[in-house]
Amino acid sequence: MEAKALFASGNRHKFHEMHELLRSVPLSLVFGPDVTDPVDVDEDGTTYAQNALKKARAWSETTGYPSLADDSGLEVLALDWAPGIRSARLAPTVEERISRLLQQLQNHEDRTARFVAALAYVEPKAGRVALSLGYVWGEISFSPEGSGGFGYDPVFIPRGFDKPFAALDGTVKGEYSHRVRACRSLADMLF
Ligand code: IMP
Repeated sequence: MEAKALFASGNRHKFHEMHELLRSVPLSLVFGPDVTDPVDVDEDGTTYAQNALKKARAWSETTGYPSLADDSGLEVLALDWAPGIRSARLAPTVEERISRLLQQLQNHEDRTARFVAALAYVEPKAGRVALSLGYVWGEISFSPEGSGGFGYDPVFIPRGFDKPFAALDGTVKGEYSHRVRACRSLADMLF
């Protein structure tokens, strides 16, 4: 029988990415907010893994369902790997976050960056917990381009491409993203 797991996040973009990815494994992923009121979790961990685990635990305790959560961020070499775990809090809106980032990089030649994702899976009845990490390397562009994806996608050019994720066909992100890579290794562990 196919197991059901909640995606412990209010971000529908991420849910769709994960849902597509998990098609080939015997796990039916359900968007958490379609099942229960969003579970409020204070993301105060010092690592992506801690935050992901905290979210997966909180949603599985509230609902009794196995839960899958992610925590992710953008890390920029020239900024000592900032904004990192604070990526969502760099500024109030996505547009402001992007313009703050471009401003901070104004005088830097090296625009190397990477997205990082941690995934945590908690199955309360079996007491099973699994954690994985995924990375995608690239660089920050000089101005935003494209309307696909979400967050920093308009300024993140994955290595081997000449446009940001937001301006590339969605299949590129579906093949190479940090979340995809974390998801593949989690699926290898679980199934
Ligand atoms: P959180 O994992 O929901 O806490 O989000 C972390 C931050 O990193 C948010 O500001 C996201 O916009 C950004 N982020 C995480 N994954 C991606 C991605 O795949 N594309 C663009 N931005 C991302």
